[in-house]
Amino acid sequence: MERTLTIIKPDAVKAGHIGDIIKIFETNGFRIVAARLVNLSKPEAEGFYAVHRGKPFFESLTGFMSSGPAIPMVLEGENAIARLREVMGATNPANAAAGTIRKLYAASIEANCIHGSDAPETAAFEISYFFPGVQLI
Ligand code: ATP
Ligand code: MG
Repeated sequence: MERTLTIIKPDAVKAGHIGDIIKIFETNGFRIVAARLVNLSKPEAEGFYAVHRGKPFFESLTGFMSSGPAIPMVLEGENAIARLREVMGATNPANAAAGTIRKLYAASIEANCIHGSDAPETAAFEISYFFPGVQLI
């Protein structure tokens, strides 16, 4: 069993796709271990995406991620990190496979509906970023 951190990003919340995306998590056998609704401040978004500091899209990305409510969640399942990345689809929805969350619901490479941890170390950091000291179910 493995845990990963996902975020239903502000574009997907605004567009009314919370339920659609959670349904896809459930259909694919992920167990929801934790969830909250947050409106990140700009500094909080910058802290979360610190690995991207200095990249050309950093300012715009952290502005977007702090533009409205988002839903961080912890998902659990076998091979959860890699499996969630598959279900999400490619970063740019134009390149995402049919049936993936980004293909179905994302509008652009930036407003791409969903985040997923990319490795065990980043999953541990990202889970503690949103759920510090909380006893997860
Ligand atoms: P995430 O980390 O959000 O799960 P990812 O791992 O698929 O997405 P990253 O390369 O980590 O992609 O980029 C983080 C986020 O930054 C992307 O999801 C997207 O919102 C934004 N982003 C990435 N590349 C670009 C770009 N070239 N132009 C604009 N925004 C971008
Ligand atoms: Mg990433």
